[in-house]
Amino acid sequence: MDDEIELGCEYAQQRDDAASVNLRDRFYLPDDLYLDGNSLGPLSTDAERNLQHVVDEWRERGIQGWTDGEPPWFHYGEHLGKRLAPIVGAREDEVVVANSTTVNIHTLVGTFLDQRAELGRGQKVIVNDLDFPTDHYAIRAQLRIRGLDPDEHLVIVESHDGRTLREDDIAAALDEHDDVGIVFMPSVFYRSGQLLDIKSITDLAHEHDAFAGFDLAHSVGAMPHSLAENDVDFAVWCHYKYLNAGPGAIAGLYVHRDYHGELPALAGWWGHEKDTQFEMQLTYTPAHSAGAWQIGTVPILSAAPLAGVLDIIDEVGIKTLREQSVALTEYLISLVDERLPECTLGTPRDPAQRGGHVAIEHPEGYRINEALKAHGVIVDFRSPNVIRMCPSPLYVSFEDVWDAVEHLREILDERVYEQFEERGGGVT
Ligand SMILES: *Cc1c(COP(=O)(O)O)cnc(C)c1O
Repeated sequence: MDDEIELGCEYAQQRDDAASVNLRDRFYLPDDLYLDGNSLGPLSTDAERNLQHVVDEWRERGIQGWTDGEPPWFHYGEHLGKRLAPIVGAREDEVVVANSTTVNIHTLVGTFLDQRAELGRGQKVIVNDLDFPTDHYAIRAQLRIRGLDPDEHLVIVESHDGRTLREDDIAAALDEHDDVGIVFMPSVFYRSGQLLDIKSITDLAHEHDAFAGFDLAHSVGAMPHSLAENDVDFAVWCHYKYLNAGPGAIAGLYVHRDYHGELPALAGWWGHEKDTQFEMQLTYTPAHSAGAWQIGTVPILSAAPLAGVLDIIDEVGIKTLREQSVALTEYLISLVDERLPECTLGTPRDPAQRGGHVAIEHPEGYRINEALKAHGVIVDFRSPNVIRMCPSPLYVSFEDVWDAVEHLREILDERVYEQFEERGGGVT
C-alpha cells in the first residue's frame, strides 16, 4: 500500500495538480460529487455534440442519412465497432455495437451452445454465484430453448467469501465436469470490483476444450483489454457505465474471427451480409464479421453519443485512464483504512485484481447510501451491505474522493443515516 499518502485536502489537491487526466469541464455533473460512473456515466459535451449531429442529419436528410450521413448510418454499428476494437484489443472486424448486453448474452451464448451441439460435445456452462443476475437469466433461457435442463447445465462456481472468486475453483469445476461447453465469466465483479485474469481463464477453458466468453460490462472503458491476443472466443459489454454513452445506450460485442460466418442464434436482417442485405432474400447469409450478431436496425440515436465519447478516449488513451483509475482507487482504499475503520473493504488491494470501483461494506449500507445522496454524494448501494464508490478518472478528482470520504465520515459520526427509512424497492 502507498505509505506516502497523507490525509487532508491539500494533499489531494497536490495529487490533482500532478494528474495526467482532467476532463471535468467536458462533463455535466448534476451533483458535485459524482462517483457512480460504474452504473451510469454522466453526459459529456462530446457525446451531446455527436447526438445533436445525428439529430441534425435526421432533420436535414431524412432517410438519406442511411447512405449520406457522416458516417453513413447503414454501417454505423461496424463503424463504431472499428473504433472500439483497439480499446478492447480486437481486430476491426471482430467488434460491433448492437442490441443490449442481455440480448448479446442470449445470442452469443446461444451461438456457442449451437457450435457445441454441431460438434456433438457437452453443453454445460460454467458461471459463478457472484454474477450479475441478468447473465444467469439469459443463459438459463438459452439452455431451456435447447431442451437442456438449466439446473443441470448451469454449473455455478461458488465464492468462498461472498466477494471474490478463486480461479482454482473454476479449474476444479472444469475438472469435475467433463461436458463443459462454455466458461462464461465477468471481467470485473459488479459488487466487489474484483478483476479476473481474462487470459488465464481463457487458457484454462481452452485446455479443457471449452469456449471462453466474458461479460466486460464493468471493465470496458476503464482499462485496456487484449481479447484477440488472449484468444477469447466471445465477449459482451455495455457502454453506459465507464463509456458514458447514455442510459440504455447500445451495447457492444466481440466474436473471434474463427467463428465469423457461423449462424447467429438470434439472426436478423441487420446481421446479413451488407452488400446483399437490400436484395431482401428470404435466406439469411450472415455477414463475415462480428456484424452478423446484429439483429434489427441499428438504433442510431442510442449509438450516436458513443461516437463522441470515443473521441475522448482516443484523446486520453485507455492506458493512461487505467493508470489514473488505479491511483484513484488506491487513494480511496487508503482513506477507507484511515478514516473509516468501522467499514470493511470488499475490494482486492492488489491493483492487478481490481477494477475501477471500490466496495465499502457497512451493515447500514443502504441508509448510508441514502444519506450520502442527500449530501450530494452520488454513489450506489448493492445488497446486502455494499456502498460502491467509483472515482472515474475522466471527471473525478483526488479532492472529490477526499470530500466523499469526509461526508461519509460525518454521516457515521453523527448517525445521519438514522433519519432515513429502511430499505424499500426501486433503483439503487
Ligand atoms: C450492467 C450490466 C449488465 C446490463 O445489461 P443490460 O442488458 O444493459 O441491462 C449486464 N451484465 C453485467 C455484468 C452488468 O454489469
